[in-house]
Amino acid sequence: MIHFNESLKKMKEANVTPTQRKELPLMEAQGYVLAEDIVADHHSPAKPTSAMDGYAIRHQDLCLGRLKISSINPAGSEVSDAVREGVCIKTFTGSLMPEGADTLIPIENVCVEGDEIVITQEVPFGFSVRAIGENYAKGELLIPQGTRLSFCEIGVLASLNIAKVWVYEKPTVAILSTGSELLLLGEEQTNSAQIRSSNNYILEAMVKAYHGIPLQLGAISDDKESILNALEMALQKSDIVVTTGGVSVGDFDFVKDVIGALGCEILFKGVRIKPGQHIMVAQKGKQFIIGLPGFAYSSTVTALLYLLPLIEKMQAGRGGLRQIKARLKEPFTKRAKKAEFTACNLSEVEGEYYVDFKGKKVGTSAILTNMLGDVALMVTSEEESSKEAGEEVMVLLLDSYTA
Ligand code: AMP
Ligand code: MG
Repeated sequence: MIHFNESLKKMKEANVTPTQRKELPLMEAQGYVLAEDIVADHHSPAKPTSAMDGYAIRHQDLCLGRLKISSINPAGSEVSDAVREGVCIKTFTGSLMPEGADTLIPIENVCVEGDEIVITQEVPFGFSVRAIGENYAKGELLIPQGTRLSFCEIGVLASLNIAKVWVYEKPTVAILSTGSELLLLGEEQTNSAQIRSSNNYILEAMVKAYHGIPLQLGAISDDKESILNALEMALQKSDIVVTTGGVSVGDFDFVKDVIGALGCEILFKGVRIKPGQHIMVAQKGKQFIIGLPGFAYSSTVTALLYLLPLIEKMQAGRGGLRQIKARLKEPFTKRAKKAEFTACNLSEVEGEYYVDFKGKKVGTSAILTNMLGDVALMVTSEEESSKEAGEEVMVLLLDSYTA
């Protein structure tokens, strides 16, 4: 078994071919990774623009105290009139500044008397005038390739009049649970040794949440031939195949042998982590097979650690689960000389994060309910030992994916 860091290094060094690029209409591109650099093709604003409702003036005329309103300049219309000495033009938020004006005096700073304004409070030179290129300048790299498109990027792209964007296809992740004891959703129980399969469902939901396309293949029994056939079929339809179960050392753990028999390059098998030490990752050409352990908590944690970064890397993306520092509210007993990923409650008080284990059960890696609530994963490395209350720890956030 290898060190956790070594397994991450192997994943990082793996030769990952990004998925196909495709062009999508802007409003279908949310959640995809951008496959092109977005460079501004114009200045924004293109001309000096008013940032408030008020009167366009020459700053040097403020000393006159009183200016004649020569015309009105609503947003969206081209101004023909110019501001000359002693006059102003009523100008609104988003209107172009008229020729000759350098400053906008807001409505709040004047009194209107007939067709004149009386200045009640002066403003500095250039006040409330948005300069050419304030938002962005022509030639500026605004959104680099590799950015996952969220609502802010969509807004900026729309402001650039980019109606279609090039993105990376989301990788297809085939999901297959193995185990003769497994029952799928709604399947009738026929003997008391059967259990409900949760792994294939949590993985489908996780893949969806973290920008892959899940291909649900259900569950199959611990039969070498069936597993081999299922994996071969899965490889024909996906970029990544994820299995659960059958990678341990039991008599019926065939997945590890089958992955070996498929002509794959095994990147690693066995990592000193808790949970999930029997995880294996293999590569076959451009495709990857990730054999996750069977226990529900193990497969969930190892999918977060290995599957999500791979989905991201296949799209040439830069995202990942965010790590933060938090303080232990109670002591933590390290149970193994491995990197441990412990479900914890995360809370925030006045900007500081805290971790406790209230309601979390200590037991086997079957306890998936430990992942409910305001959960995060506390990470303690192989080299770390038990900790006292008040000590600082690293925590992986599950609900925040950063770019
Ligand atoms: P295995 O790694 O195949 O030895 O599986 C270990 C244990 O994980 C099994 O005995 C089951 O209790 C549990 N398990 C396996 N597959 C699943 C699944 N798809 N959903 C929930 N629990 C599972
Ligand atoms: Mg099994």
